[in-house]
Amino acid sequence: MNAPAPIGTAQATPIGGCSTAPVLRERGQHEVFCGLTGIVWLHRKIQDAFFLVVGSRTCAHLIQSAAGVMIFAEPRFATAILDERDLAGIADIDDELDRVVQKLLERRPEIKLLFLVGSCPSEVIKIDLKRAAERQSRLHTPRVRVLSYSGSGIETTFTQGEDACLTSIVQSLQHAVISETKSLIVAGALADVVEDQFGRLFAELGVANVRFLPMRRAADTLAIGPGDVYILAQPFLGDTARALEERGARRIAAPFPLGAEGTTAWLRAIADEFGISRAHFDKVTAARRRRAEQALARYREKIAGKRVFLFPDSQLEIPLARFLSRELGATIVEAGTPYLHRDHLAHDLALLPEGTALSEGQDVDRQLARCMAARPDLTVCGLGLANPLEAQGMTTKWSIELVFTPIQGYEQAGDLAELFARPLTRRARLEV
Ligand code: SF4
Repeated sequence: MNAPAPIGTAQATPIGGCSTAPVLRERGQHEVFCGLTGIVWLHRKIQDAFFLVVGSRTCAHLIQSAAGVMIFAEPRFATAILDERDLAGIADIDDELDRVVQKLLERRPEIKLLFLVGSCPSEVIKIDLKRAAERQSRLHTPRVRVLSYSGSGIETTFTQGEDACLTSIVQSLQHAVISETKSLIVAGALADVVEDQFGRLFAELGVANVRFLPMRRAADTLAIGPGDVYILAQPFLGDTARALEERGARRIAAPFPLGAEGTTAWLRAIADEFGISRAHFDKVTAARRRRAEQALARYREKIAGKRVFLFPDSQLEIPLARFLSRELGATIVEAGTPYLHRDHLAHDLALLPEGTALSEGQDVDRQLARCMAARPDLTVCGLGLANPLEAQGMTTKWSIELVFTPIQGYEQAGDLAELFARPLTRRARLEV
């Protein structure tokens, strides 16, 4: 067996663990939310953006119930519902859309960035939203920029909506010429509190010119070009990564910043890229890392030895499996993911114990049968599977919570462990 590389060691292509492990590929019925779900966290992140879903009543219900009702502020999302008349092709959809956008922008002058978000209905798929967004941009420039992407359940799962949204942002940015000063782009929506913590760490390490994608305000957009580097903060950004590379930015490869170990390795990869000495890195990170390890130790005794099954849902599953096994001593029965991006997950795969069962895609009945046969101590899955599994006496964790909760970085390591420990504690109480 090849031992996993010591954490923090910069490696172009890490080998070991599950680097070359076989993957069970399934293409059957799958149980995941569509990409519209991303609006739930993205509308909070980009503070002067608005997400206008072009869709059906089903889309409106999904967004409204997933995002909840904002009591103190007007929501920054809505659905332009296509009615029977539109679907029958009687109404001119371009005119309808122009009218809705015009009305929206008149009523909400604070909007600076508007996303037209596509959905499933066949009449929506036929609309050229990209062209509509370009037309709207021309109409409302310079006050509002209008972009488009698809959140359709036919094309995207749960977290891919963010990937599609960020791709549209990157494609709209200016091209930069090669500059002397290398910028770091941190790609992937992080809770503001996490972003601020990383911002402080970068400043203490001496990494200047850091930008986060998505940006908090529409105007915070700078050019991206050759000479810039980027690092992924979320593992579901395949298209965004491609768009950044098309602009000339180069990816810094690292495990994802989950847990004390993952965060250290992620920061270390950045520090190496910017030529920061090991001594200075240790000085800046040592106390934070120690606190994170202490926070994790409290949960390790609860989780160590527990058998965990991860259904494919958020695409966070591989880094989570690495965190659960390496930092909390859990045994991974199966780690499923909707898509396995081998390059982006190379460091996490190398740190997974050899022999871990991996699956990509889903055939939900078969996977449920494997899960029921294995009787894991904890099953991480989507909302649709959790209740039926609980009814069978299984202990579950909703994977959507792992996307909505701040979990990255040193300060959140204990909170992340707590998310897995809580259902185990609840089950233990029920069994007393
Ligand atoms: S985009 Fe498709 S899957 Fe998502 S809510 Fe609308 S109709 Fe349903």
